Amino acid sequence: MATLGIPQNTIAVLQKYNFNFQKKYGQNFLIDTRVLEKIISAAGIAKEDFVLEIGPGIGTMTQYLCEHAGRVAAVEIDRNLIPILEDTLSAYDNVQIIQQDILKMDINHLVQEKNQGKPIKVVANLPYYITTPIIMGLFENHVPIDSITIMVQREVAERIQVGPGTKEYGALSLAVQFYANPEIVAHVPPNCFMPRPKVGSAVIRLTRHREAPVQVKDERQMFALIRASFNQRRKTLVNGLNNAPDIAHSKEEIVLALEKMGLSANVRGETLSLEQFARLSDLLS
Ligand code: SAM
Repeated sequence: MATLGIPQNTIAVLQKYNFNFQKKYGQNFLIDTRVLEKIISAAGIAKEDFVLEIGPGIGTMTQYLCEHAGRVAAVEIDRNLIPILEDTLSAYDNVQIIQQDILKMDINHLVQEKNQGKPIKVVANLPYYITTPIIMGLFENHVPIDSITIMVQREVAERIQVGPGTKEYGALSLAVQFYANPEIVAHVPPNCFMPRPKVGSAVIRLTRHREAPVQVKDERQMFALIRASFNQRRKTLVNGLNNAPDIAHSKEEIVLALEKMGLSANVRGETLSLEQFARLSDLLS
């Protein structure tokens, strides 16, 4: 099977199978070999790796993964793509195609069964509407992972990477940075996809921390505080937390904890670093 990264070959496959793009699945297929090579090298894929690819489409990146990795599991929701994948990947015996919704899959079980629980690499050109649940699901469920290298909306990539005091800083930046080191490795314009998306994209690599960058007694409580304080960005942290239904602490307790941290009662959540949210959580627990 010819390399699909070349537009003519992608068009030939789509015509052969009379394939109709499904908007609801965010289908924008890559048609640029340089971008594909960049993703493989940024992910550092090697023969000893087990790679989980989310949303293989017609198998464009999967072909590259099969060439470089030891084994590949490709999880695709769209039933119509399965016969196409069986065709475009027929030359490879190190790939397993799984028809399933990744959000409903027990990935820990897959890693146990296929890689004896050893850390895997995740590579994906994601449908944008499920970027956050996928990333957070992998981290919060403690799936053994080395790195996640993913194509996301450019804006989301920037939001993940920034620190306190910027407009984009939010719960997603803090959550990702707690678990991993994020690095944007490429900016990808709309003309690298078929059909062209309306927005620019970026490839971001999230390398899992070996040790958490901050220590916190109750991870769940810290993330509840983070979510509550960014839900009401315009309010002070004290009012934001006080209005949140899942935070049980009184205004006085929160003000006292902030005082112990040397912070004013008028501080806004978006100015706090990950370390400060961890400290606040410990003081309140
Ligand atoms: N990897 C291919 C490429 O780069 O050309 C396709 C990328 S396309 C942006 C996203 C793919 O994810 C589509 O094939 C789509 O059908 C699939 N997809 C969407 N939602 C999914 C889900 N919940 N679980 C698994 N795959 C999904």
